[in-house]
Amino acid sequence: MTQHLGRFLDDLDRDIRASADWGKVADYIPELGGIDPAQFGIAVALADGQLLTAGQAGQPFSIQSVSKVFALACVLGRIGEQLWLRVGREPSGDRFDSILLLEQEKGRPRNPFINAGALVVTDELLTGRSPKQALSEVIGFLRTAAGDDDIHIDKAVAESEAAHGHRNAALAHYLRSFGNLRNPPDHVTGTYFHQCAIEMSCIQLARAGRVIAGLDCAPNLLSRVKQRRINALMMTCGQYDGSGNFAFRVGLPAKSGVGGGLLVIAPGRASIAIWSPGLDGWGNSQAGTLAAEKLAEFTGWSVFG
Ligand code: GLU
Repeated sequence: MTQHLGRFLDDLDRDIRASADWGKVADYIPELGGIDPAQFGIAVALADGQLLTAGQAGQPFSIQSVSKVFALACVLGRIGEQLWLRVGREPSGDRFDSILLLEQEKGRPRNPFINAGALVVTDELLTGRSPKQALSEVIGFLRTAAGDDDIHIDKAVAESEAAHGHRNAALAHYLRSFGNLRNPPDHVTGTYFHQCAIEMSCIQLARAGRVIAGLDCAPNLLSRVKQRRINALMMTCGQYDGSGNFAFRVGLPAKSGVGGGLLVIAPGRASIAIWSPGLDGWGNSQAGTLAAEKLAEFTGWSVFG
């Protein structure tokens, strides 16, 4: 299997690179706007400890919303079920940065992966901690899960988003007006922008994702129940309003980021990180989604059989 998979990944890299349509990079964060969309990397961490890679698997990229998975893991570890008093567990069917439902649903975001929900998670991370301590907690989790201390924040990306992050600022103030943000909105957005600006390669991300896949690399980091719940949320909400389409095409829990990263989980089997910075209309990696679809087809790893 491993040998076949290794060859498949090399072929996949070649096929994806032959693509004519890479999608568009996210330019609302100016620092990400200049990145060449025609790039691709993939890393697959298997249950037996092997790591297979192809393309630019060692190239660091801005993980953006993929960080929401790990921030959620930290907060669930800290306060557990209480989080659900402040955030829902339903797909939103709206864009990642939408404010629409927040008014109708009185400031309780639909799920922890849309921006409004992620801001509440970051607010929880900040409870009793400074922004620096909260960020250290997420980075510490990632470093332990990946077994790699060389994971850092790209400050230029964080500052670039902060200078243009009016929508997230609006969401934070709106949440605060409903009493669902305890810390000052600019503390929360500032911490959130830095969390999103964590840089990792596919190799590091696939290794960190093993804890979400239940591969027992660091068994004390995340309980079985929390791991299962995070996977359920990734399946139903991980690609924003494109989550149904992703489940249909790939059939695996995953989380996307506007930096073009994708963490895909084959529970109990593998943690897969894919990067290609060109995005589709939902803000998810275009070539990355195609690669995940082909990989799921090849391996038969879809949770739907
Ligand atoms: N930092 C980005 C934002 O809040 C993350 C969005 C994403 O990666 O989907 O707009």
